[in-house]
Amino acid sequence: MPVILDGKKLSQEIQLEIKHTIEERRINGKKIPHLAAVLVGNDGASTTYVNSKIRLCKAVGMQSTFIHLDASTTESELLKIVHDINQNDDIDGFIVQLPLPKHINETNIIEAINPKKDVDGFHPINLGRMQLGLPAFISATPAGIVTMLERYQIETAGKHCVVIGRSNIVGTPMSILLSRNTNPGNCTVTICHSRTKNLKDICLQADIIVAALGKPEFVTADMVKEGAVVVDVGISRLDADNEKGYVIKGDVKFDEVAPKCAAISPVPGGVGLMTVVSLLMNTMKAVELNN
Ligand code: NAD
Repeated sequence: MPVILDGKKLSQEIQLEIKHTIEERRINGKKIPHLAAVLVGNDGASTTYVNSKIRLCKAVGMQSTFIHLDASTTESELLKIVHDINQNDDIDGFIVQLPLPKHINETNIIEAINPKKDVDGFHPINLGRMQLGLPAFISATPAGIVTMLERYQIETAGKHCVVIGRSNIVGTPMSILLSRNTNPGNCTVTICHSRTKNLKDICLQADIIVAALGKPEFVTADMVKEGAVVVDVGISRLDADNEKGYVIKGDVKFDEVAPKCAAISPVPGGVGLMTVVSLLMNTMKAVELNN
């Protein structure tokens, strides 16, 4: 049976570590870290994500502010709010939950965030610093995956890692992080995307697969070699005839892929929970950096 890369267990361990550090800061009269989250509109998934971030802040004793704006908020109104938070010394880090409504240019908003408070790590300065191996805020999902590989002591050096998906927030940073001269890292990385040919053949050569394409159960057993490590980033909400009205599916067909794997992360209960806790880890970094 494969090792299950248990994001729930790991995130609880890390939450406890953060809680202790915050308690120590309190005892030593240091600033309590403060995360702000800005949400524009009422998208169901985004609201769930932001609520879970705020809930986790409270659980570890971190200060939090949830700024919930109407879907009709204009780009200039949002920019003004971003500038205000940049100036607010009490807020150490903040996120603007993506996606934003169509009438707002996401790049303009991301570029307006002070890189020293950009705990989502989406600002070009943080992405550039990460690429150069300089201290930076690394976006929460790739950072969470790296932490997961590290804590489960998954050997990465010299391994062939296939990353499926090249988005700015997951696939691309993931491919950079795993190819760096670090541990975890030192992989030979192949990054695949919607125009990749022979994806199955490429996946069959992978020691590690990171599936981040957003297509439910796309990776099937015939694409995975025996003994591979599979990290499933996908989160798709599919309509279902249950109490919630939906089920969450990953990008990997877990039941048939898992038996072939040395280790695999489930969905739910894997990378998603690591993402939220990574945001808190970044906020801890921000309070150190900014105070
Ligand atoms: P995206 O839509 O921005 O990017 C998807 C990428 O997959 C693109 O680069 C595209 O080229 C590639 N792709 C699409 N179809 C493909 C195919 N048939 N073959 C190969 N590549 C293909 O998505 P994203 O923001 O990177 O998110 C990907 C998935 O991860 C989504 O399900 C999203 O919900 C999930 N996600 C999860 C977390 C988490 O915390 N677990 C965080 C962010 C995103």
